[in-house]
Amino acid sequence: MAEGGAWNERMCAVRVYNFSAGPAVMPLEVLEEAAAELADWQGSGMSVMEVSHRGKAFVACAADTEARFRSVMGVPDDYAVLFLQGGATGQFAAVPMNLTAAGDSIDLINTGQWSAKALSEAKKYGLDVRVVADEVASKYTSTPAAGSYTLNADAKYVHYTPNETIGGVAFGYVPETGDVPLVADMSSMILSQPIDVTKFGVIYAGTQKNLGPAGMCVVVVRRDLMGHARTDTPTILEYSGMAANDSMLNTPPTFGIYLLGKILAWIEVKGGVDGIAAINRAKAAALYDFIDGHPFYSNPVALDSRSIMNVTFLLADPELDKQFVSEATAAGLTNLAGHRSVGGMRASIYNAMPREGVDALIAFMADFAAKNG
Ligand SMILES: *Cc1c(COP(=O)(O)O)cnc(C)c1O
Repeated sequence: MAEGGAWNERMCAVRVYNFSAGPAVMPLEVLEEAAAELADWQGSGMSVMEVSHRGKAFVACAADTEARFRSVMGVPDDYAVLFLQGGATGQFAAVPMNLTAAGDSIDLINTGQWSAKALSEAKKYGLDVRVVADEVASKYTSTPAAGSYTLNADAKYVHYTPNETIGGVAFGYVPETGDVPLVADMSSMILSQPIDVTKFGVIYAGTQKNLGPAGMCVVVVRRDLMGHARTDTPTILEYSGMAANDSMLNTPPTFGIYLLGKILAWIEVKGGVDGIAAINRAKAAALYDFIDGHPFYSNPVALDSRSIMNVTFLLADPELDKQFVSEATAAGLTNLAGHRSVGGMRASIYNAMPREGVDALIAFMADFAAKNG
């Protein structure tokens, strides 16, 4: 069970496998490295949290994080990379404020609770929000097939959620939107698999799933979409001003920027996004294969829409849910209860969840079913 001997001796009795949807597991190597330099960062006699964000050392750290992000994700020069506050939820408002005027129309694909939240926030901005495909009737267990819905050529942008964290539902394709900018909330799948950034107008992701601690949102914006914000857009959410000031118009989330740099270096060691994606696909396949092959467990999501990051599953007898969660926790497998709104179980197996954690979960599930099934 124990993930790393040295860490465990120093810091805690047992490091668990944490299946939380977010804030979520981070790579042990990154935590150890950050711990080792916490009190004295780069010989400054201070932690990275205590230095000036305008000082040479931190400015270099932020520039390194951005350069690594561009290289790992494959972000071309005609896109800005911003480190903003307010999480992904902040972007539910920032996107309409930056990209539209009151009276404009946008298209939205609704596949779950996060796209529904983006929808209700966008409606505050005097927009005609057209839900071009709505999966609510499936109880959010599917994505619309490519070509099964009609997009509007006059939309200012099309918004979608490639991975719905609560339902464990993911698109198997990138919607084709022609000249209309595509906006994606990638909070729970960013850097989990390769994507072609040039297909997108705006990509945003809260950092607390695949990019580090909570408190930051990474926003990738095609530069020609910047500079058209509504005049009443708050300065800290306005893309062009933040881009012109390296996301430092105000004090940035320094610790998050620093840790994101370390996470990116860790991804590089794993073979970049391609390397991570191969590991992710194998982890998800092992878990889904087990669920599909076992009469005690089931997964409600359509086969072409299964997330490789958030794997939901149901027990044959929901009366056993509580016992499952408590015995799993006792075995060092934590945060497996599904979202309070849907019940069942959910194993979030982000980039930082090691394969051993998934194998331990499968072994536990087999054992639990044998004893209680
Ligand atoms: C977690 C999550 C959010 C919310 O992020 P915050 O940073 O808490 O605002 C939004 N969208 C998706 C897809 C998420 O997984």
